[in-house]
Amino acid sequence: MEDLGLKPKKVVKKLRYDNVICMKTKDSSLLQMKNAREEEQQAVMKQIIEDGVCPFCEENFETYHTKPVLFKTEYWIVTENAWPYKMTRKHFLLVYRPKHIEQSKEVVGPGWQDFTEVVSRLENEFSLSYGTFLMRFGDMEKTGATVKHLHMQLIQSDPDNPDYDPKTGIWTRIG
Ligand SMILES: [Zn+2]
Repeated sequence: MEDLGLKPKKVVKKLRYDNVICMKTKDSSLLQMKNAREEEQQAVMKQIIEDGVCPFCEENFETYHTKPVLFKTEYWIVTENAWPYKMTRKHFLLVYRPKHIEQSKEVVGPGWQDFTEVVSRLENEFSLSYGTFLMRFGDMEKTGATVKHLHMQLIQSDPDNPDYDPKTGIWTRIG
């Protein structure tokens, strides 16, 4: 495999959380390879499956994620999507931070309160006057997600992109 600038495997710690699915090695059920959109993305995902970890659990996050973390709150890690959708000006990724969860109902009340503050901060710091939120959860076969650990996307389209068609905009799989 080509060098993707990943840190050596030995720094990857296995999950301490009680979700046994994360403890399995060679476990591909945390990722859905066929929903990957780009070749490099698939290569990183293969490495993650090989390492047998969840790439979005905080202790592993910066091992695999190539974009800088913008900020963290108690409940969310906020960064840019490493593989942004085409024709976007901004594509942020919000990853649930306290532990490995896969369902939206597992986000506790303060987590949603914290989320609203994250959104306000992004809107202010990046002068976002428009955008779209997307959150998939549960069975990745039915949502199009690539990583099972609960996360959200905040996408701002780029209407100035020459490929942008205002009639169709940006398309992605949501189900
Ligand atoms: Zn996780």
